[in-house]
Amino acid sequence: MSELSVTSRLAQVNAKIHAACTKNDRPESEVTLVAVSKTKPAARVREAWEAGARHFGENYAQELAEKVQELKLDKAQWHFIGPLQSNKTRLIAEHADWVHTIDRLKIARRLSDQRPPDRAPLNVLIQVNISDDPAKAGVDLSQIAGLADRIATLPNLTLRGLMTITAANLDEATLAAQFRELKNAQADLITHHPTCTEVSMGMSQDFELAIANGATMVRVGSDIFGHRAPKPDKE
Ligand SMILES: *Cc1c(COP(=O)(O)O)cnc(C)c1O
Repeated sequence: MSELSVTSRLAQVNAKIHAACTKNDRPESEVTLVAVSKTKPAARVREAWEAGARHFGENYAQELAEKVQELKLDKAQWHFIGPLQSNKTRLIAEHADWVHTIDRLKIARRLSDQRPPDRAPLNVLIQVNISDDPAKAGVDLSQIAGLADRIATLPNLTLRGLMTITAANLDEATLAAQFRELKNAQADLITHHPTCTEVSMGMSQDFELAIANGATMVRVGSDIFGHRAPKPDKE
């Protein structure tokens, strides 16, 4: 079976981001591509880095820590985008630059407490369950402001915005409406929290629609690295 290289797949994704920005009158500098490398070997991550990718997304704390330490990629930023468990926060606080999946104060506190003093504050996003999907983590829209005010008091975190994982199999109009709803929630949030410039939404299936509706970070895995073998949820 012929497989396209990571380099050529990455170029295709970047071209699509460029086109979506142009079409929607958005500066390309406003949209960060997070290359989701979870379950993929370090060599593929390096290939993406050599082809210009600088932001990488991982779902498993141990895997993130190992790749950071093994690869030591210059100027790379590592994004933790997986479910947060209390017993894994230290690894994340020590090795990640961003965490997208904050949905409770307790976890935020642990990350702040465990952030090494010689590192810049950890950038964090609040995960919002915008599809109101019982299978998805995240707070409701009504809970954002209260959680944001509390996170903002934690010394070693910087609150940077909102993130969502939408429900599977939504029709395009519903998906667009939900993306827009998250963008509007971020526009509200930034009036009280000026560091909240980011809206993390959109994956391989729908990142162009997310850009059309205000995404500033798109998380793209399989379109860059190819299909993943199914992996159990637990580490
Ligand atoms: C795996 C994952 C992605 C990437 O998904 P693809 O469909 O492979 O692009 C994005 N966001 C989160 C939270 C993920 O877990």
